[in-house]
Amino acid sequence: PRALVWFRNDLRLDDNPALQAALDGGYVPIPVYIHAPDEGGDWRPGAASDAWRHRSLAALDAQLRRRGSHLRHFFGPSLATLQSLIAMSGAEAVFWNRRYEPAYEKRDAHIKQTLRMQGVRVESFNAALLFEPWTVRNRQGGPFKVFTPYWKTLLGQWQLGLCIDAPTRLPHSDEGPAGVALDALQLAPKRDWDAAFWNDWTPGEAGARGALETFLEGALRGYIGQRDRPDRVATSRLSPHLHFGEIAPWRIAMALERERSAGNGADIDGYLRQLGWREFGHHLLHHFPETPSHNFDAKFNDFDWAQVSPARLQEWQQGRTGVPIVDAGMRELWATGWMHNRVRMVVASYLTKHLRYHWRHGARWFWDTLVDADLANNTLGWQWVAGTGADAAPYFRVFNPVLQAQKFDPDGRYIARWLPELASLPLPLRFAPWQDPKALRRAAPDYPPQPSVDIGRGRDGALAAYRKLRG
Ligand code: FAD
Repeated sequence: PRALVWFRNDLRLDDNPALQAALDGGYVPIPVYIHAPDEGGDWRPGAASDAWRHRSLAALDAQLRRRGSHLRHFFGPSLATLQSLIAMSGAEAVFWNRRYEPAYEKRDAHIKQTLRMQGVRVESFNAALLFEPWTVRNRQGGPFKVFTPYWKTLLGQWQLGLCIDAPTRLPHSDEGPAGVALDALQLAPKRDWDAAFWNDWTPGEAGARGALETFLEGALRGYIGQRDRPDRVATSRLSPHLHFGEIAPWRIAMALERERSAGNGADIDGYLRQLGWREFGHHLLHHFPETPSHNFDAKFNDFDWAQVSPARLQEWQQGRTGVPIVDAGMRELWATGWMHNRVRMVVASYLTKHLRYHWRHGARWFWDTLVDADLANNTLGWQWVAGTGADAAPYFRVFNPVLQAQKFDPDGRYIARWLPELASLPLPLRFAPWQDPKALRRAAPDYPPQPSVDIGRGRDGALAAYRKLRG
């Protein structure tokens, strides 16, 4: 018998429960990918995600071919495509790994029900999380809204799944339609604006393993002390690999546990805690599915956000606000599809507090430009910084971007890397170049002479708006 194995955000062969279930059930797996961006609803995948996915799908296909199988690509809609594939290939079952974005949860539930009614065996699995959102409950039986008790509960249930290496051979069937070529899906950018991405990234399962090994051998030691330093390679950079399911979180957790020794317990626990935030993001997204577009804290529905000036917004997007740490972050994002977490917080604070723009404008830009764009984590991150979230930084805590730069990029190296025109400015001028207009004009005549909002006035404006809301 044959079964469709529907690949989605689980682009790997190791630890892939859907694939494993097909094999265990004695089916010949037919691996398929269906391109249906509209099914993401308000959140169809952004450009950087598409660019990554193109390469990740190619890597997955290569892995399958090495084992005697291959990936077939189709255009959606998903349900109709699965139905015609079932009819034409004679498949008796469909297996997939679950997604947790509201639009996909709804779609998948409908597909499951429809196919089952038509007599097809349908099974779905967890490939993405240590704990699925509905398995963690507070004492009243409801979802958590605060991270620390959530994390404690999770640690109380801590038990890691088995790691299952991919089979070395896969049975193969040619029944049914062959699908279209990967290039026909047009995921790869037409102009190669992504060219520089691939100096930093290797999409696919092997790339994910490589990133994990690099981290274990290097930045893990000292992670807790260094993870806030954007001028160093001090974090794992596993986020896009995790988003696309190129590696299972439990494989990461187990690899870390194997490294545990007297000296690095705090680093390992600190890293697991970050994976915990990722779990928490998915927990919140599942239980509060409206939060990618709406304030978690409804009080902020009356907040006096500033009216958006398209020119100002563009300055932020393009890294031309005149505030070096903000501009460096936005340029890192544009050049590499990724930004350091500390700098994400700083640029998000500048947008939502100093400019007082609704966090949705920032979340959208990140959605389109991040290779790790993830509805759960992005919503969590933006609502956290904006102060509108479940467990969020209080709104009145406004990051001072100059102090943040001094603290976390003390030698100004991160700024110099992404804003080479400022590299010749001495410290501490590099953090706030408007303080010496002459020196700035000499070094970087094209760099904005003043920040797009005065740092002090922006902060006062944010606090005044917050007082009005509470008043
Ligand atoms: P590491 O420090 O090595 O952490 C390991 C893993 O833990 C990460 O790969 C990630 O999966 C998870 N993680 C770490 N920090 C967080 C966090 N704060 N919240 C949730 N998960 C976390 N992360 C995304 O994956 N996708 C997003 O779209 C995204 N948008 C963000 C937007 C804002 C405004 C902010 C402040 C944060 C956002 N983050 C997002 C979280 C975080 O910045 C990235 O996960 C992290 O920078 C990825 O780098 P890393 O893999 O080297 O992290």
